Amino acid sequence: MEKVKAKKQYGQNFLKDTTILDKIIQSMPNNNNYVVEIGPGLGDLTKNLVKYKDLTAYEVDTDLISILKSKFAIQIEEGKLKLIHTDVLVAWEKQETLHDGKYDLIANLPYYIATNIVLRAFEDRNCEHIIVMVQKEVAEKFTAKVTDKDYSSLSIITESMSVDSRILFDVPPESFDPPPKIISSILYIKKDMNKSLDRNFNKFLKACFVQPRKKLSKNLTSVLSKENISELYKELNINDNVRPHEVSSSLYSQMHTRVIHGRNK
Ligand code: SAM
Repeated sequence: MEKVKAKKQYGQNFLKDTTILDKIIQSMPNNNNYVVEIGPGLGDLTKNLVKYKDLTAYEVDTDLISILKSKFAIQIEEGKLKLIHTDVLVAWEKQETLHDGKYDLIANLPYYIATNIVLRAFEDRNCEHIIVMVQKEVAEKFTAKVTDKDYSSLSIITESMSVDSRILFDVPPESFDPPPKIISSILYIKKDMNKSLDRNFNKFLKACFVQPRKKLSKNLTSVLSKENISELYKELNINDNVRPHEVSSSLYSQMHTRVIHGRNK
């Protein structure tokens, strides 16, 4: 077995635990979607995925690309695996989607850009399922429910954009080489394919949560006048003392719609 020095700057922690690899494969949805993997690394997950589905894998590290090319020479030749050497976020800037056709994103993500990747996957119209390993705290933010202390802009986006979202299971540091300092979780999201993510809604939510423990009305002063906030609260029957994590995603959508219309008046 090759010994490759993991590069910290690329968030490299290679998943070695075969039980966890099997559990990820078992959580793959039973559908005809294509698969996209981000960060195949040494190819342990890729090897399992390619047994079931054709896939494209995006990897930034030149050294790993050459290892993967020789490891998967047959699958690449047969057209079962497409290997793309690039920073996936740059790829997403150049093209709207990572695959021309419905796909599921299945990956053990580099933690330093995991949140951005999930947000980009929400924007990618062809991505239906997001099944990714992220830091446990990040997974909890995406799946928190209204009034939970972790309920945030990420939870609201997930709630408004998906039909199902949950943490499937946790993964301990010992499952990786080298072991990370944190616990990981497998995050599962099934997107609502009729919805599209509005970046302005994301910006509005960020403003609402800028000081998460303060009153929502205080945070709203960066986007609305005090007078407009009172009107909005009256119209939507919102309590003056409410904190950002106590407001439901549907109420945030209604607020945002009114804020946009108010500006257009
Ligand atoms: N999938 C492998 C596994 O499960 O063992 C490796 C996972 S490791 C946590 C993250 C992988 O993402 C590494 O291979 C790393 O080089 C790659 N990576 C980091 N930043 C990336 C980027 N911007 N675009 C594409 N791949 C990236």
